[in-house]
Amino acid sequence: MTTPIESVLSIGTNIGDRLTNLQRAVQMLNENDQIELTSLSSVYETEPVGGVEQQSFYNITAVIQTTLSAQELLDYLHEIEQALHRKRIVHWGPRTIDLDIIYYDRQHIQTATLTVPHPEMANRRFVLAPTLEALASDDEHYDEVAHLLQVTPDRNWIKKKFSNEVLMWTK
Ligand code: AMP
Repeated sequence: MTTPIESVLSIGTNIGDRLTNLQRAVQMLNENDQIELTSLSSVYETEPVGGVEQQSFYNITAVIQTTLSAQELLDYLHEIEQALHRKRIVHWGPRTIDLDIIYYDRQHIQTATLTVPHPEMANRRFVLAPTLEALASDDEHYDEVAHLLQVTPDRNWIKKKFSNEVLMWTK
């Protein structure tokens, strides 16, 4: 038996029915035998980045325990993205949903397809705020995330929109 590893995932959507997109992503994480959801943040509404005529985003952070390797986890996150694309939009356009690996244990990973910890996290309040909420205060990443949230240059607005109950998740 492989020992499960903690990973932190950031999930964002600004296309179509944003709450349904998040619910389906959470459901698909739950459906994978090698993933156990241990914590979910509230749903945050966040300012659309770069450009006009975009809906605001909904963002959440999911903390999981997984026996998947980092690359296998990324592949599964892509499966979720693909499943939601096919369902929601006809043409190939902006993504319905985006799932990123923020942390995978304490590992530093740099491959052609994967950089972990996520290199943009420090510049994204919409990653840091939900992540701080989702992490237990004794989590090994908590202090770093709290610090990054204090010093991030990101000034985009972000507000708590719904409690995590709307994600229909029970531990
Ligand atoms: P983007 O469209 O900017 O979200 O980039 C998606 C691509 O980023 C994926 O196909 C991954 O190969 C790559 N990537 C690199 N690091 C990460 C990470 N930590 N989490 C998710 N995707 C990543």
